Amino acid sequence: MEKRAQVVRSAAELIRVAAPEIGHLVTSEMGQPITIAVELVGRGADTMDFFADMAGRIAMTEIRTDGGMAAVVREPVGVVAAIAPWNGPFNMAITKIVPHLLAGCSVVFKPAPETPFDVAYLVDALTDAGLPSGVLNVVTGGAETGEHLVSHPDIDKVSFTGSTAAGRKIGAIAGGQLKRIQLELGGKSAAIVLDDADLGLLAASVARGTFFNSGQVCAALSRVLVPRSLQDSAVEALVDVAAKWRPGDPFESTTTMGPLAGRRHLERVSGYVARAEADGAVVRTGGRRPDGLERGFFFESTVLTDVDNSMAIAREEVFGPVVVVIPHDGVDDAVAIANDSQYGLHGAVFTASERAALEIASRVRTGTFTLNGFLYNNRAPFGGVKASGVGRDTGLEGLESCFELKTINLPSDADSLRIADVLQGERGE
Ligand code: NAD
Repeated sequence: MEKRAQVVRSAAELIRVAAPEIGHLVTSEMGQPITIAVELVGRGADTMDFFADMAGRIAMTEIRTDGGMAAVVREPVGVVAAIAPWNGPFNMAITKIVPHLLAGCSVVFKPAPETPFDVAYLVDALTDAGLPSGVLNVVTGGAETGEHLVSHPDIDKVSFTGSTAAGRKIGAIAGGQLKRIQLELGGKSAAIVLDDADLGLLAASVARGTFFNSGQVCAALSRVLVPRSLQDSAVEALVDVAAKWRPGDPFESTTTMGPLAGRRHLERVSGYVARAEADGAVVRTGGRRPDGLERGFFFESTVLTDVDNSMAIAREEVFGPVVVVIPHDGVDDAVAIANDSQYGLHGAVFTASERAALEIASRVRTGTFTLNGFLYNNRAPFGGVKASGVGRDTGLEGLESCFELKTINLPSDADSLRIADVLQGERGE
C-alpha cells in the first residue's frame, strides 16, 4: 500500500508542475475559466496527496476475537469501470481513479466525449511515477461504449458520475450482474432561507454554487426557498449578485464565468427557461444569451420568480446558471418543499440561529448539507440519497468503497500475532 501511495504522491507533484497546461486543456475542452481551471488542477493534486495519506489509515488486516477468532482482511474490489461527466473532468478523473489504484484495483476509465483529453495528463503522471502498465486504461466514446464497459463480464465494480437517467440504466445492468456500484447523480438542491438570514451571504453563496462553472455543478443550490415576506429583498439581492457573474472569454485571466459546455447543452438550458416562462415563471434577470457574445455557448446568470415547486424548472436538473425563487410559509413548509424532490444531493440553510440550522439539516433528506454557505469538502464523504445516487466517492469512505472484506475464520488457539504477521507479509503491507 505504501508503495502505491508513493506513486500517487510523486504523480501529484508532476501534476502541480503541469497545472497551467492541464488547466488550459480543460478550458479548451469545456470552457471553464482558465484561472479557475488551473487552480482546480492544483486542488486535484492535493486530493491525490489526501487519498495517499488516507491509504495509510486503512487497516488492511484486523484480528477479531469476539465470538471466535477471525482475520478480517481488505482486498481490492477488482477491475473497476469508472465513467465520468464533463463538468469538472480532470478532478473527476482523479476522484474516480486514484482511490481505486491505491486499493490495488485496475481501472478502465471512460471520460465524457466532450472532455476526452485531459485524463492523459493523469495517466502520464502516474506512469512516470511508476504505475505498472496495464493497471490504468482509458477508453473514449459515448453512452454505447459506457454500456459495453458496464456489462463486460470482467468488470467487478462500476463507479459512475453523471445524469440520473444514465445512472438508472447503469444501475439496472450492474444490478442484473450483481456488480458493486457507486452512482453519483444529479441534484436539485434547496437553499432554505429563514427570517433572520443574511441575504447578502445568501446571494453570494447561491452565486458561488449556481453561477460558478456556469451552473454545471451537481450540488448547485438551484431552488431558493424564502419566507414570503422576504421575497422581494431576496430577489433583489440575487439579481444584484447575478449582475456580477457575467459570462466572458474563458481564456481571459479575469473571467469568472465561461460558456456552457456545448451547443446541445445551451439548447437544453434555454429550453428549460422558455418552458418555465410558458408555465408562468417570470425572468427577473438573464434568461438568454448575453449581448456581444454571439460566438460560443454563453448563457446569462438567471433568476426566476413566480415559480411553483411542481413546475419542471423546480423539479428537473437544468445544470445551467439558473436559480428559481419559491416562497415558503415557515420552517415546516420550507422543509416540505425542499424534500418534495426526487433528488437528495445537497442543501443549505441560511439563518442566524445555529440551533435552527442544525434542526433543519437533520430534517432535509440529502447526502450533504451546508450551514450559511455553499461548501464542498472532498475530504468528507460526498454523494446523494434518492435519485441522486448510491454510495460515496470522496473522503475516507470513498477509499473504503474500493475494497471487499474477507473474513478468514481461525482456530480458537491460533496465534493472532503470527497470523497477522503472515497475512501482512503475504499482502506486501
Ligand atoms: P451523462 O449521464 O450524459 O454522461 C456522463 C458519462 O456517462 C459520460 O461519460 C457518458 O458518455 C456516459 N454515459 C451516458 N449514458 C451512459 C450509459 N447508458 N451507460 C454508460 N455510460 C453512459 O451526464 P453529463 O451530461 O456528462 O453530466 C452531467 C450530469 O452529471 C448531471 O446530471 C450532473 O448532476 C451529474 N454530476 C453529478 C455529480 C455528483 O457527484 N453527484 C458530479 C458531477 C456531475
